[in-house]
Amino acid sequence: MADDFFAKWHGIDRSTITWGPIIDPDKCTGCGLCVITCGEKRNVFGFDPDKKKAVVLFQDHCMVGCNNCQVGCLWDAISFPNDAQYVKELSQTISEEQIKKELKAKLEANPDLVIE
Ligand code: SF4
Ligand code: SF4
Repeated sequence: MADDFFAKWHGIDRSTITWGPIIDPDKCTGCGLCVITCGEKRNVFGFDPDKKKAVVLFQDHCMVGCNNCQVGCLWDAISFPNDAQYVKELSQTISEEQIKKELKAKLEANPDLVIE
């Protein structure tokens, strides 16, 4: 179930997308903020209580374009292999048909989002 959810990003194979956090263990203080920051559905991070460090468990579960954990890490221990420009260029490859299909499904599922 979860694997299907993470397999595609707007129709693009997630495995072809280079986006996800990398932790520098020398900088990580083990505060745990990134572990609680990342949404429970994704749970990209785990925690090693012996080493007192966060670890990346599922890098490809990271939401493409998100960098909340990087921004929040006070010790600059988190980096990403690409930047916002990479995501913009990737977004340009999403087909119009795909966006229309997803928008229709989203608005049908969330009628409160339709402004009358
Ligand atoms: S927020 Fe930064 S310092 Fe804290 S556990 Fe995560 S990577 Fe380590
Ligand atoms: S960037 Fe966002 S989705 Fe990705 S690991 Fe960090 S908090 Fe989770």
